[in-house]
Amino acid sequence: METGVIFDIKGFALNDGPGIRTTVFLKGCPLRCLWCHNPEGMDPKPELRIKTASCQHCGKCLEPCSHPDCKLFGRCLHICPRGCLSVAGTEITSADLAARLMRDRDIFGEDGGVTFSGGEPLLQARFLRETAAILKSGGVNLALETSSFAPPEEYRAAVEQTDLVLADLKLMDPEAHRTYCGVPNDRILENLRWLMGSGRDYRIRVPLIPGITDTEENLDAISAFVGDSPVELLPYNTMAGAKYPSVGREYGLPRLEKQSAERVEEMRKRFRRTVGGEIS
Ligand code: SF4
Ligand code: SF4
Repeated sequence: METGVIFDIKGFALNDGPGIRTTVFLKGCPLRCLWCHNPEGMDPKPELRIKTASCQHCGKCLEPCSHPDCKLFGRCLHICPRGCLSVAGTEITSADLAARLMRDRDIFGEDGGVTFSGGEPLLQARFLRETAAILKSGGVNLALETSSFAPPEEYRAAVEQTDLVLADLKLMDPEAHRTYCGVPNDRILENLRWLMGSGRDYRIRVPLIPGITDTEENLDAISAFVGDSPVELLPYNTMAGAKYPSVGREYGLPRLEKQSAERVEEMRKRFRRTVGGEIS
C-alpha cells in the first residue's frame, strides 16, 4: 500500500473537469513557475504554514513542546491564541484517500468525478496509480491536471488510467521555460506529442502570464505545436502571490494586471480550436 502526501481536498469544484468534481491536491512539484498560485504545493514534504498578517510575535509557539507533530517543526502547533499555525501536507494511504473521495460519489452526478491536481501529481506516480485504480474500480470518472513533466512511461500509464487530461503548456522557448519554470521543456513537449496522438481525451491549458506567456510569439508557437487540439486559455490570477509569505517564500513576479476579456478574445483567435467555460 502506497502512502502519499496531499495538501488539500476541495469539494464542488467546477473548473477542474466536467460536472461537479472533488479535486485532490498532491504535494510536490519539480517545476518552479514564478506565477504558481499554490506555493504550499511545491515542496514534497509537509511544511509549516503561518498566517503572518495575524501573528503578534508573542513567542508562545516557540516554547518547548513534546507533541510529536510539533517537534517536527520546532514550534507548538496548538498553542497560538490567534490560530496562526497549521501544516500544509498530510500523509495518507491510497486506500484511505480513495475511501475519502468515494464519500463524494453521490454529488458527482453523471458527468462529475475526481480530479488529481497539485503540485504535480506525477511526482507521486505510484501513489497516484494506486489511488486511481481503486477509484476506477468504483466507477469514478477521473481527470488529471499535470505539467507533463514526468518520465514518459509514468506519464503514459497515468494518462491511460484517466478519462480527461488537463495538460499545461506554458512556454515553447526552451530558455524562457527554464528561466520562468525552473526546468527545460523537452520532456514536456515529448509527453504532449504522445498525448496528442494517443486518442485520449485531453485539453491543453495555457496560463496567460502578462509579458511572459501571453506574447504573440509564444502563443503562435504554441498554436503551431498543438494544431487542432482543444486549447483553454487561463487569464492571469492576480491573487497568485497571496499565499507565499505563509510558507516563507517570495513571489517571483511584480504586480501584473489580469488581461481584459477583449484581449483574451483576441488571443483566442490565434488558435484553431479553443474551449473553456462550458467545461463547468
Ligand atoms: S503563538 Fe501565534 S501569535 Fe504568537 S508568535 Fe506564535 S504564531 Fe505568532
Ligand atoms: S507546474 Fe503548476 S504546481 Fe508546479 S510550480 Fe508550476 S504552476 Fe505551480
